[in-house]
Amino acid sequence: MREKFSQDKLDPCISCGYCLPACPTYQLTGKEESSPRGRITLMRAVQNDKLPALDLLNESTFCLGCRACEPVCPAGVEYGVLLEEMREITWQGKNRPLIVRALFMAVGNRFGIWSLGLFSPVAKNRKAQADLHLMYGCFERRLFPEVSRAVAQLAPEVSCSSTQGCCGALHAHNGDMEKGKSLAQALGAKLPGTILTTAGGCAAHLSSVIGRDRVQEFSEWWINREVNLKPISQNGGIIRVGLQDSCHLRNGMGVFAEPRKVLKQLGDYVEVPGSGDCCGAAGTYALLQKKNSRKVVSQKIADIKELDLDYIATLNPGCTRQLATELRRAKVKTKVIHLAQLVAMSEQ
Ligand code: SF4
Ligand code: SF4
Repeated sequence: MREKFSQDKLDPCISCGYCLPACPTYQLTGKEESSPRGRITLMRAVQNDKLPALDLLNESTFCLGCRACEPVCPAGVEYGVLLEEMREITWQGKNRPLIVRALFMAVGNRFGIWSLGLFSPVAKNRKAQADLHLMYGCFERRLFPEVSRAVAQLAPEVSCSSTQGCCGALHAHNGDMEKGKSLAQALGAKLPGTILTTAGGCAAHLSSVIGRDRVQEFSEWWINREVNLKPISQNGGIIRVGLQDSCHLRNGMGVFAEPRKVLKQLGDYVEVPGSGDCCGAAGTYALLQKKNSRKVVSQKIADIKELDLDYIATLNPGCTRQLATELRRAKVKTKVIHLAQLVAMSEQ
């Protein structure tokens, strides 16, 4: 178990509080300790032996890890790294949630990864360009295998390999930084050149370990292909479509203009209020903090209902699952679909 935070990550915070209005958990509670600044104050107290480390447990679990506090921070505080360290300190032994332990087991070895995709026909193995590989997110391959099939159909030049492992984002975001790093390095070695990914959370973690230049998220890769897409027609009109940003993609990698550019070619693009705000999926958050996750997403669901959209496009499997579940619960007919699938619909 690690005992301390990286001092160079704690030091830049000047306690200005600019991050507070951007933080969903601060908005829910109005409490300083549930804000980025408050959590950093608690971390500093642990660092200076003024507080037992386990006093951070509640806030390490309540924080979504959405990193909305990062782009608004004038001091460039890398809060996402601090949260990973906070969870590594606190989510050990019996304090690591059972669901997280089960998920670690599911993706911790090649058999586990393979079995996740056992009944999900992902894109078939194929050798194409030696320096361009499609990455299958572990949960995307299980829950939404049609996403990798859409990319394979759109881009014959992309190589696909079903023997690839996990990128380690799950581990890094849930208290095991070392495993998260070693899995990312192994994946980087297995898939040389550029790794193309359809999962924002995986993209951000993988690029933080193997380098930004080696990782391309689908929308930023697609926009550079400069393909003119046909608008998608349905029921005699062009589709009305909105977007849910991926937090890690937007706040960690600065990718948010690219998916909008693609969507504007595909239909009547409608900016959903708060489309850049977390949907409450947040990796394992929707499983561990169901009530708070629903509180975070509730306004978004009301807004999507009001806008009467045909589709809401997503860039991460967690967001797809969360929005599909909550829209169904609210009896909203808007369909949730990954951007790559919409692009494939336009090409048909
Ligand atoms: S994290 Fe950044 S924005 Fe928030 S209080 Fe610290 S310096 Fe200010
Ligand atoms: S990661 Fe999200 S929930 Fe956590 S402190 Fe930052 S803005 Fe708040």
